[in-house]
Amino acid sequence: MSARTALVTGASRGIGRGIAERLAADGALVGVHYARNGEAADEVVESIRAAGGDAFPLRSELGVDGDAHALYAAFDSELTRRGMEPTLDVLVNNAAVSGSARIHQVTPELVDRIFSVNVKALLFVTQEGLKRMPAGGRVINISSAVTRMSYPESVVYSMSKGAMDTLTLSLAKELGPRGITVNTVAPGFVETDMNAKLRTTPEGAARLAGMSVFERIGKPSDIAGVVAFLASPDSLWVTGQRLDASGGTHL
Ligand code: NAP
Repeated sequence: MSARTALVTGASRGIGRGIAERLAADGALVGVHYARNGEAADEVVESIRAAGGDAFPLRSELGVDGDAHALYAAFDSELTRRGMEPTLDVLVNNAAVSGSARIHQVTPELVDRIFSVNVKALLFVTQEGLKRMPAGGRVINISSAVTRMSYPESVVYSMSKGAMDTLTLSLAKELGPRGITVNTVAPGFVETDMNAKLRTTPEGAARLAGMSVFERIGKPSDIAGVVAFLASPDSLWVTGQRLDASGGTHL
């Protein structure tokens, strides 16, 4: 029997990398999607194969015309090349862009950029993915703690993650009859390139660590474990939920 297939968007680095490695360790054949950083994506694929798993890289810039179609053209062609049906069992919507701006700093360009990747591409990558998803499928959206706590420093990014949480709720009901679950995982600060600028001083790093009740910043593997549960048969009865994976940030 063929392995379950998984597609993790933005898996060349950070949280997406951690998720791709974990799903592959759990037995899935993983599409490691990236935008520009082909070397990093190849390194993820190599690390998965070295650990005994299987994966392949997939390039598609999200937030541009035809992004979802380009992504699935590459996905389908790789599965066909392997003699497999182009089915998708687990879709992890992880790729996103951030952008610091308080309300008075917001520009139309920033809104277009963040919403084109974090909302529009999310919607169409999901729409296309669902055409390939059988019963037992999983859609897992990587949102953020900013939809539970106020984060005025990044108002547009926060709004885009709110749209993601809403998509989870709508789709969970829509897809229940097909036996597909849809859930959100909401990390707090995790040590990745996305927040590297906030950690350049010991004080900055300590501030982020101090937000969690565990007094450390999250690691990609902390998030990957929660995603692995949602991707597994054990989560069969969980849908439409937002799982906080923020280490108890601002409880
Ligand atoms: P990251 O380190 O900045 O990595 C971003 C990933 O997304 C990379 O693989 C990148 O590909 C890809 N990507 C970025 N823009 C893209 C585009 N336009 N088209 C296609 N792919 C694109 O991000 P991260 O910190 O791991 O964050 C992952 C997810 O967790 C995001 O949804 C983020 O909002 C969420 N999150 C993160 C944190 C945190 O503290 N890090 C906290 C809460 C939520 P390339 O390598 O090719 O550029």
